[in-house]
Amino acid sequence: MNQSIIIAIDGPSASGKGTVARSLAKTLGLHYLDTGSLYRMVGLTVQRQGLDPNDEETVAAVAASLNPVSYNDADLRGELIGGYASKVAALPKVRAALLKFQRDFASQSPGAVLDGRDIGTVVCPRSDIKFFVTASVEARTQRRFLEMPGSDFNAVKADILARDERDQSRQIAPLKPAADAIIIDTSAITAQQALQECLRVILKLRANGPLKTQVSERGGGTKRTPRR
Ligand code: C5P
Repeated sequence: MNQSIIIAIDGPSASGKGTVARSLAKTLGLHYLDTGSLYRMVGLTVQRQGLDPNDEETVAAVAASLNPVSYNDADLRGELIGGYASKVAALPKVRAALLKFQRDFASQSPGAVLDGRDIGTVVCPRSDIKFFVTASVEARTQRRFLEMPGSDFNAVKADILARDERDQSRQIAPLKPAADAIIIDTSAITAQQALQECLRVILKLRANGPLKTQVSERGGGTKRTPRR
């Protein structure tokens, strides 16, 4: 029986979910997957090869042949490829092609933290804990703006709004909190404070017993206990 713990962290771009997820995984000694990077890798290939991002069969073939370890490209994190990623992410066959990799990753022992848009709703609906990390459009724009010297605030805001709209309105696996997700609003708090809030929630759940794997902060590592 698989007793690995799964923590799902969903949310819009620049909400701080990636920072929180990475820190949480490190603190708890769990594996970490940034699922957005998978869609970005597909988007980058489509852009570089001049493919049509709306051609579902072609883009699904790119997704199916993806080798996630082989990507380490400076352009991957940029807003241009973020836009391509959100276009290809709306194609059902592309999402299907990336599903098994994500689920296999999530089932590794002793557990994993995955961040994305549909982890708690589609990829791992039975996650032990689900967080939805969000923030106001102004706060998210300000963060991206500061990360990109020389950028235009209004253009950054327009990109974020366009991507939000595409991610929230698509037919398949739209961006939305799972019904049982805990909402963390990072508009007025630091990434460190958000991490502490998530840890507080996790340790409280552990104290109450609903976690199938006991989690303690790094140093104690993770301890396996019988599934409840
Ligand atoms: O998180 P990140 O900004 O890197 O994600 C890029 C794009 O990939 C998102 O705008 C979204 O369209 C897509 N994505 C998704 N499902 C996920 C992760 C990312 O649709 N689980």
